[in-house]
Amino acid sequence: MAVAWLEDVRSTDLGTVGGKAASLGELTEAGLPVPPGFVVTAGTYRTFIEEAGIDEELFSAVDVDSEDSEALEAAHERAHELIVETEVPEDVRAEIVEAYRSMGDGETFVAVRSSATAEDLPDASFAGQQETFLNVTEDDLVDRVQECWASLFSQRAIYYRNQKGFPHDEVDIAVVVQTMVDAEKSGVMFTSHPSTGDPRIIIEAAWGLGEAVVSGAVSPDNYVVDRTTGEVETMTVATKKLMHVKDDETGETVEREVPEDKRDQQVLTQAEIDRLIELGKKVEDHYGEPQDVEWAVAGGEVYMLQSRPITTIDDGATEAEDDVDESDDGDDHLLSGLGASPGIASGAVRIVTKLDHLDQVSEGDVIVTEMTMPDMVPAMKRAAAIVTDEGGMTSHAAIVSRELGVPAVVGCGGATRTLEDGQIVTVDGEMGTVREGAVATDEPAVEPGTDDDDAPVGSRPKPITATEVKVNVSIPDAAERAAKTGADGVGLLRIEHLVLSLGKTPERYIADEGSEAYVKELMSGVRTVAEAFYPRPVRVRTLDAPTDEFRQLEGGEDEPDEHNPMLGYRGIRRSLDRPEVFEHELEAFKRLYEQGYENLEIMFPLVTDGSDVAAAREHMEAVGIDPQKRDWGVMIETPASAMGVEDIVDEGVDFVSFGTNDLTQYVLAVDRNNEHVSDRFDELHPAVLDIMGDTIDACRAAGVDTSICGQAGSHPKMVDFLVRKGITSISANIDAVADVFEEVDRVESRLILDSVR
Ligand code: PEP
Ligand code: MG
Repeated sequence: MAVAWLEDVRSTDLGTVGGKAASLGELTEAGLPVPPGFVVTAGTYRTFIEEAGIDEELFSAVDVDSEDSEALEAAHERAHELIVETEVPEDVRAEIVEAYRSMGDGETFVAVRSSATAEDLPDASFAGQQETFLNVTEDDLVDRVQECWASLFSQRAIYYRNQKGFPHDEVDIAVVVQTMVDAEKSGVMFTSHPSTGDPRIIIEAAWGLGEAVVSGAVSPDNYVVDRTTGEVETMTVATKKLMHVKDDETGETVEREVPEDKRDQQVLTQAEIDRLIELGKKVEDHYGEPQDVEWAVAGGEVYMLQSRPITTIDDGATEAEDDVDESDDGDDHLLSGLGASPGIASGAVRIVTKLDHLDQVSEGDVIVTEMTMPDMVPAMKRAAAIVTDEGGMTSHAAIVSRELGVPAVVGCGGATRTLEDGQIVTVDGEMGTVREGAVATDEPAVEPGTDDDDAPVGSRPKPITATEVKVNVSIPDAAERAAKTGADGVGLLRIEHLVLSLGKTPERYIADEGSEAYVKELMSGVRTVAEAFYPRPVRVRTLDAPTDEFRQLEGGEDEPDEHNPMLGYRGIRRSLDRPEVFEHELEAFKRLYEQGYENLEIMFPLVTDGSDVAAAREHMEAVGIDPQKRDWGVMIETPASAMGVEDIVDEGVDFVSFGTNDLTQYVLAVDRNNEHVSDRFDELHPAVLDIMGDTIDACRAAGVDTSICGQAGSHPKMVDFLVRKGITSISANIDAVADVFEEVDRVESRLILDSVR
């Protein structure tokens, strides 16, 4: 038998029907309203490749070095070709078509979904890697099934299995064929609170087919229901701009704007909420554990499309242990600076003046240096703490330490002179102090989440918020740790650190190693982050390093000598002036899109006005990235870009993101790197807030998303201001994500209360 009916499938059939079908079979059996359908079993796929004799060629075609982009692309193309161009045996084809015909009048629209037998592998993102086709009919049914089989060999899937060491020939794929629910509304439901496990049902709902909610393309309505009383505790009705619907003419799924009168309308009726609660309880009872359910409403009926156990519930085992003895009388105070990366750690001082001194940094030492540099990252990983003479909250030392979770105090003045090699000190990265001696602590120097365990960063459960909370990433080494925060995506992926760590300016690197090597370096770094977060969005920014940072590198002697690099040749200005280098960056992003990293979004830094944005967009088009198809946007960092945001919006951006580190320095005329005026650097200055507030208003009116990815996004007062103003997302430092989630939650609850009082 090539196919099995869903009603005959049980969870014990996982190996032959895959995770998705097994779950649908279980739900059908439990009497839940699942759209009828059948599954083309994994055995059918296996027999197909074996009997056609393409199996050996297939597995050897994908046995490649997946860091080699060209080889990866060729492997994918060959595998795809082998599968879709080989005829499906007539008896199998007939069986699939016959099953389809028996589902209705022969013209039924069906959904064709992959159901990989390895879907229950530990990494959840794996499940999202295979194809789904909606609104399929008999004409293309078998082709679509073959496409699903072939999706087992997308570039991402090949890369992923190679990375994780899964043999390609041990993963099979089944395909579910199920009656389409022509959904008027759809969404997801957590049958218990997804982080605390509390008896609260959380429902997210939007108009149209479920893709918009599942992929995160719209902000859905959010309902929190007390499961015991059935009462809706809180309800947030979002502005829903987009929906997916079936095109009546072509039968294809298309993205449409939500009609004006439905955008702000509550999606679910009380009766639908009640029905969902009833189904939610039933499904959780059936499985005996909390479930994450996809549902849809069509013709007044609620259907269940999928159910999976919730994997994010915190069992309380990750409680932060703060055993530090803080009985400190203050006599041992040695130095003060800016607390740049939280945590308290003790260790022996290792003064680093030259790069060749880095070997002397042992595990658990305290690095003391003028300023850290990209080559120091491996040593910084070994260090217990970092102390620098120079730098502010957005300096290399501050950003990298935060991402690595290593306590740091920056801008101490004379740390390299005051401290002595071997001296035992205690660094407090919150208070910004360095003290003599070690503190009594059981654990050496580790903040929660910095070690290799699987505990999420921070110890508190993550609330569900309507405002998205994202995280900033600058070094690929921090990607896994950043992903574990549970953030809704990466709001800023800086590529400067990636480029600076090559040790040469981009121009010199390309001259010495070739442009292909440059593109591959960028791809490899960006892919690490895109992979760790997939399918959560990752906003990668094109290069923005000031010339003084490039000067330290090989080739730095060719950099222009600038009086004030902060006002100079950086960001989009440099990129538009050096289009070859710029297009190599864009080329790297394009190839990653082709490899399946659809979660990438492109962002341009330091634009002045609409003409900068238009020029940047043209380069995107020139390398073959379609700005209509991909999400892209710009940083708002210059007062001119904020004041002229309407012109920027007219260029077609999907989002803007405040870079408050720069915006503040340009609004207040305070150089962010100049310690003589650092007390005047105030991101909460009314002038800065005013200009941001006006920009958010203009973008909201135009339907463009707004975000913040400057350091101030980690500041509670800024969070409070921006949530009230209606910002779409906030991107924080890794160590601040948990606090920002809480603050956003608090402000949103307050807003809801204010509106009903
Ligand atoms: C900013 O300016 O706020 C920003 C996020 O960019 P960078 O710190 O990299 O200049
Ligand atoms: Mg900036």
